[in-house]
Amino acid sequence: MSIPTATVFNENYRPRAASAAPAPLRHVVIVGGGSAGWMAAMMLGDALLARGTRVTVLESPAVGIIGVGEGSTPWLRGFFDRLGIEEAEWMPACHATYKCGITFDGWCTKPGFESYFHPFASMLDNLTLPQFVHNVDARVQGMDLPVRPERFFIAGRLAAERRAPRPARNFPFDVWYGYHFDAVLLGQFLQRKAVDRGVVHRACHVAEVARHENGDIAAVVTKEGERIEGDFFVDCTGFAGLLIQKALETPFVGYGDNLFNDAAVAMPTPMEHDIPSETISSAMRHGWAWKIPLTERYGNGYVYSSAACSADEAERELRERLGMLDSPVEARHLKMRTGRVTRHWNRNCLAVGLSQGFIEPLEATALLFVQRTLQGFVEALERGELDEPARERFNARLNEHFEGTRDYIVTHYKTNTRTDTEYWRANAANMNLSPALQALFGRWLTHHSIAADVRQQRLGKGYPVFSWYCILAGMGLFPDELEPAAEGAGYRVEPIENLLARSAKNFPRQRELLRAIPPRPTEEALQIYFG
Ligand SMILES: Cc1cc2nc3c(=O)[nH]c(=O)nc-3n(C[C@H](O)[C@H](O)[C@H](O)COP(=O)(O)OP(=O)(O)OC[C@H]3O[C@@H](n4cnc5c(N)ncnc54)[C@H](O)[C@@H]3O)c2cc1C
Repeated sequence: MSIPTATVFNENYRPRAASAAPAPLRHVVIVGGGSAGWMAAMMLGDALLARGTRVTVLESPAVGIIGVGEGSTPWLRGFFDRLGIEEAEWMPACHATYKCGITFDGWCTKPGFESYFHPFASMLDNLTLPQFVHNVDARVQGMDLPVRPERFFIAGRLAAERRAPRPARNFPFDVWYGYHFDAVLLGQFLQRKAVDRGVVHRACHVAEVARHENGDIAAVVTKEGERIEGDFFVDCTGFAGLLIQKALETPFVGYGDNLFNDAAVAMPTPMEHDIPSETISSAMRHGWAWKIPLTERYGNGYVYSSAACSADEAERELRERLGMLDSPVEARHLKMRTGRVTRHWNRNCLAVGLSQGFIEPLEATALLFVQRTLQGFVEALERGELDEPARERFNARLNEHFEGTRDYIVTHYKTNTRTDTEYWRANAANMNLSPALQALFGRWLTHHSIAADVRQQRLGKGYPVFSWYCILAGMGLFPDELEPAAEGAGYRVEPIENLLARSAKNFPRQRELLRAIPPRPTEEALQIYFG
């Protein structure tokens, strides 16, 4: 068995040089100005503006953005790196903080497993990650060994101490991290940047989509009757899916069979002095609540199933949790739809963001899909591959990513052991699992290592092997009967924790680092470590 390591996740690190050849597109029209629309404007602008393509963003003055989406995966770092935007510039503008991972609290009731941490893994963890996997495999065999993920990963230690994942200058390891940010401010920041770089922004509501005879999109027509033509269109209209779903009638595959949540309620609370460096996702009666630290406030929200409780009940439960039952602070209510379109790139239209699909915010993966979609499209453009076979390959790859990620999110619900409400019992009893996920549980519950299965079943397209180990071990999904481990059968956790505690001292507290964010290490400096 090859041993899982952490550095494989650091793939998107180095910016690639954009092509200098003339672009195959003359005018790209992006409809929608939420996070997806402006990320699209930045990435497509970066790839195309210098090659002579016009890029225009149309944003409806009548329809607001969704305004949530405050957590990221480490991939977002690659987005800003590629665009040459320093953290010291964008993070303060978006009230952003560093994120080491997510604590899942209250999803499991087994003693010792009431909470666990899903870390972002780093090259430093290459020392301890194989020890974690070894112990978990032995525990699956019935040996009583320590397996809580946070005890093996530097990110767990940093989050516990509210430290930022940016080390002092003399620490020779790069640590992988994500961010928390204000979604509205991020959109505004990216808009300013995109317009500065030459993207055209127009406030107008698209009322109609005009098609060529061959079925491609020819133009969009505004409410005022203006026709805006383009040779390529990007649908960033959020859940409306105006181009990809309504105009092109691309079929939609719903995930409601195994992801029950379809609504959310959100409200802010004040930030404390010491800013945490993790998201907390706590199980509630009919869903779960997020707690996301930004520099100026916490973002809080309750994601729930409207079949299990009403919007009023959800708001009350969230207010109770936050100690805000009598607070005048208003709550925002949202509806959401989980699933994906069958073809993200259909004809001359690319769907990006909520218009292409949404899995549910539990692991904050939505902007990762925005990035993957755009990156895949830019790469296809650079290879000059815009034909139907290229679109097929592109869509198949993205669908695998969606399905793999969906299965990982479903695992959170399926492995819960709560019995307090019908919602949790129904989740645990739900047998609408993909064949890949069924096979994975089958192997694990019959005392097998699953590293090879994750790869074979293509579940690794959603989450890497170590994340599957984290969730299954974190949720305490093990044989009930344990035997004391024989001497030397597993790794003792104390030396690992001591190592992590010593390493953590090289990382400043989050609040301290955010006061003066240093530049990110240069490409040359990183060459020393990344080769
Ligand atoms: C409860 C919840 C929590 C979430 N948490 C996270 C998270 O932690 N991390 C994460 O990565 N993602 C999260 N997401 C997802 C994230 O919010 C979205 O992926 C992200 O904000 C991108 O949204 P969007 O730009 O696709 O859509 P929107 O923000 O809805 O933007 C749609 C845009 O389209 C425009 N538009 C619509 N109709 C028209 C029209 N007819 N003409 C012109 N313009 C039009 C609107 O004006 C708007 O500008 C969460 C989502 C929900 C529901």
